Amino acid sequence: MQTSQPILWTKALEKRFGGVRAVSGVDFSLQPGELRCLIGPNGAGKSTFFKIITGQLKPTSGEIWIGGKNVVDAEPHVIAELGVGIKNQVPDVMNGLTVRENLWLAAASRLKGMEVARGVERIAERLSLGPIMDRLVGALAHGQRQWVEIGMVVVCDPQIILLDEPAAGMSDEETVLTAELIRELNKKTTIVVVEHDMQFIRKIARTVTVFHQGRILIEDNFDVVIANPTVREVYLGRSGGL
Ligand code: ADP
Ligand code: MG
Repeated sequence: MQTSQPILWTKALEKRFGGVRAVSGVDFSLQPGELRCLIGPNGAGKSTFFKIITGQLKPTSGEIWIGGKNVVDAEPHVIAELGVGIKNQVPDVMNGLTVRENLWLAAASRLKGMEVARGVERIAERLSLGPIMDRLVGALAHGQRQWVEIGMVVVCDPQIILLDEPAAGMSDEETVLTAELIRELNKKTTIVVVEHDMQFIRKIARTVTVFHQGRILIEDNFDVVIANPTVREVYLGRSGGL
């Protein structure tokens, strides 16, 4: 239900790679405070959609509005300054630096002076990274590295967080903790999460948007979405079913 002005919306958004329509005519709208899940099979266009929103890729056509501004031509740093943070699907960490150094670099890109150190310490505490702060990121287990990446986004205090497969490769226990972390972050921040893991989605989902072949197939609450015959057909045999 429409309750206020969307914090983010797109109109007829399109991205073609040669003959491939990775994103095709997407009208997407996000209300402040939402925790939206974005699901869909591999190649559905989810990561491309995130990269267009954050200015990492330019759309072929269409509009993107963030906080009332048309940002279709904006560079990534401008989108970040508008308060959009992203954890990409492919890691953006520096493996040869420590957790603390990675968090510092991320914080220093958005915060000034003493705020950087304070921000790093606050995030270390909030994400329980204390014991691994001086370890090299390249030596961490995959799940821990994902948390460092989430920390690198959160330390910049964004208004909107986009998380592309935050639970990929995690153990069951780490997945549960990540779901809890996302719900906690959502108390103050609007979040969009791309994930494959249906158990994970079930734990956090409210409104779920399903992408298929670059388009929005259905958008509804979790129970309606997983009962939808087309959604089941799209997933069957690809993610082990629903
Ligand atoms: P998802 O994240 O849903 O798995 P992607 O957004 O990564 O999907 O990919 C959507 C489609 O766009 C796929 O067919 C993929 O091969 C294609 N694609 C993505 N990035 C590129 C690129 N940089 N160059 C060419 N094709 C791409
Ligand atoms: Mg992807």
